[in-house]
Amino acid sequence: MSALEARNLVKEYRGDNYVVRVLDDLSFDADAGELVVLLGPSGSGKTTLLSCLGGMISPTSGSIRVGDVELTGLAGAERDEFRRRRVGFAFQGFNLIPSLSARENVAVPLLINRSVSRSEAYARADALLDRVGMGDRLRSKPGQLSGGQQQRVAVARGLVTDPFLLIADEPTASLDHVQAEAVIRILRELRDDGRVIVVSTHDGRLVPAADRVVHMLPGGASFQPEPVTVRYAPGETIFGQGQHADLVYVITEGSVEIYRDVGDGSEEQLAILGAGEYFGELGALMGFPRSASARARADVLVEAMGANEFRQGVERGRY
Ligand code: ADP
Ligand code: MG
Repeated sequence: MSALEARNLVKEYRGDNYVVRVLDDLSFDADAGELVVLLGPSGSGKTTLLSCLGGMISPTSGSIRVGDVELTGLAGAERDEFRRRRVGFAFQGFNLIPSLSARENVAVPLLINRSVSRSEAYARADALLDRVGMGDRLRSKPGQLSGGQQQRVAVARGLVTDPFLLIADEPTASLDHVQAEAVIRILRELRDDGRVIVVSTHDGRLVPAADRVVHMLPGGASFQPEPVTVRYAPGETIFGQGQHADLVYVITEGSVEIYRDVGDGSEEQLAILGAGEYFGELGALMGFPRSASARARADVLVEAMGANEFRQGVERGRY
């Protein structure tokens, strides 16, 4: 039996008239003692997947087993307990408490759990800080440490409850090459204890250190079950340049202006579109942010749909 098993995970975020499918039927396994790297660009669902694995959020469907615990079968207090006892976290941006020393920061989860005495908590914190090469900075506050050093403190804190699963969200982001190397080496060493370490990243530096790589795909999984009719008033913005692109729009009535901000505050008009024409397909299909803005010129009625529905519509000759 593998140590960690994720099966057919689906995670959808729902808004008023859209659904974004961030995880689309994702499955993977990991054995004890493995370093698993989730590799994918920003927006591909890495933080979402880590949050599901750590029991912070529930997947829409699918199952997660951690050791002998069926995580997706737990709720409420049981799930909180699982998270506190079996999972360690090292978040993006470190999340260290600025007023506390490295030693105190690392001891915090134990002090909150009240599972051991204060002196035992500090003794464990010191031992872990030593292990990540920070044994000489026990009394330093986060502000006195470099990014790489802070990340090492965060990793030590994630391990202080001796969790079965350690989750690290982009631990090498914002670190220079030397600092990143040190963090990667430490993660590799730590996995030998028989735990599972799952780390997300958007760059390839971690890949050579991985025992397993889970590729996260951007954008394409975004969908909408049924096209929705949306009405816009004259002058109303339908979407703005640079925004995350989920939907494709087909115009039923009225006309829409596509324009780009030139940078000096003025706009460049790219197209005027009318009934039967579509827009927004590039970003939604390719997983790019919007390259231009769209605005209603008169009362406009559009059908908004996800990339997959649009694709099917095109294949059926509907658009
Ligand atoms: P990554 O960590 O790879 O950058 P995330 O898991 O943070 O990816 O986000 C994946 C997608 O899900 C993004 O398009 C993001 O906008 C969307 N998303 C994340 N959290 C929420 C939420 N709470 N509500 C709606 N959409 C969300
Ligand atoms: Mg993220």
